[in-house]
Amino acid sequence: MEELVLFYPDRHELHFERGHPERPERVEAIRNALEDSGLWESLEKMPPIEIPKKVLQAVHDESYLEEISSASKNGLRPDMDTYLTPYSWELALNSAGGALAVSEAVWKREANRGYALCRPPGHHATPDQAMGFCILNNISIATENILQKFGAKRIAIIDLDVHHGNGTQDIFWERSDVLFISVHQSPLYPGTGSAKEIGAGDGEGFTINIPLPPYSGNEARLHAMEEIILPKLSEFKPEMIMVSVGFDAHWKDPLAQQLTSADNYGKLISLLSKYTDQYTGGRLAIFLEGGYDLHAGAACSLAITNALLGKAWKDTLGESQNPETNEWRTVLNHIKVQWGIN
Ligand SMILES: [Zn+2]
Repeated sequence: MEELVLFYPDRHELHFERGHPERPERVEAIRNALEDSGLWESLEKMPPIEIPKKVLQAVHDESYLEEISSASKNGLRPDMDTYLTPYSWELALNSAGGALAVSEAVWKREANRGYALCRPPGHHATPDQAMGFCILNNISIATENILQKFGAKRIAIIDLDVHHGNGTQDIFWERSDVLFISVHQSPLYPGTGSAKEIGAGDGEGFTINIPLPPYSGNEARLHAMEEIILPKLSEFKPEMIMVSVGFDAHWKDPLAQQLTSADNYGKLISLLSKYTDQYTGGRLAIFLEGGYDLHAGAACSLAITNALLGKAWKDTLGESQNPETNEWRTVLNHIKVQWGIN
């Protein structure tokens, strides 16, 4: 069995817009850092696999898929923040296909862990709308594929991007076979993700939101993981854990105001990794979402790759020098009461 498999999106540089923060350099900085550290060569790269039509249509509306593929051909903008080039549709399918390849390898235990460098990213894409730089919801498509193809019963999605994973939430809002937990900054784009949003119908109680105030730091996210996420995972008993990772909670990121270090990303993934070995048969796959500072993205990627491999790593970017606020403690306490966690 491979220790860790990787997906790298070939030709992703053809999806770009001059001056836009969601740029090809994000993935190239990660690749360079992994190459310089000697990890890149040692990791098996997975080619993308074709997405079954039934899976794609379970996640996105058919009319949306038609609209977005034709908008891409014509280079039309589907949303103020999101651009399309004539290559974007093909590259979005490729990005989601890579998410499928990595998650299948992990599900089938051909690999112990998986890391998909998805670009374009996915967690803001809703069933019928491209938004927040996202076209297809990669992690949702990968999750739906494991449920449909392998008959999985319970999958957990943890979203650690600094923005709320509104698209993923919408897609599984009424589903009890997917537990969705998002830790994000609030207030911040896209404005959703209050603790009151908990799912509906069969899905009521299967969406958990942990909105952290600006200037929360490392401790806030560690406490959220240990005191809320891990206990809720134990209750749900997932067969596999999928993680949306955006590096935009790093203190250097220009789009948000969280004070997280790269080392903290490593710690969070380590905690999930240990949990996974103990309770989910070792099935853990990570999918890239946002993160707009190139140095932070490279450092966080090294942190989580080493965490997935169980190796030590030194964070040369260090910690933020800005003062942290403590409001997050009250927020976490309220959420614990809300979900009956002692
Ligand atoms: Zn983000």
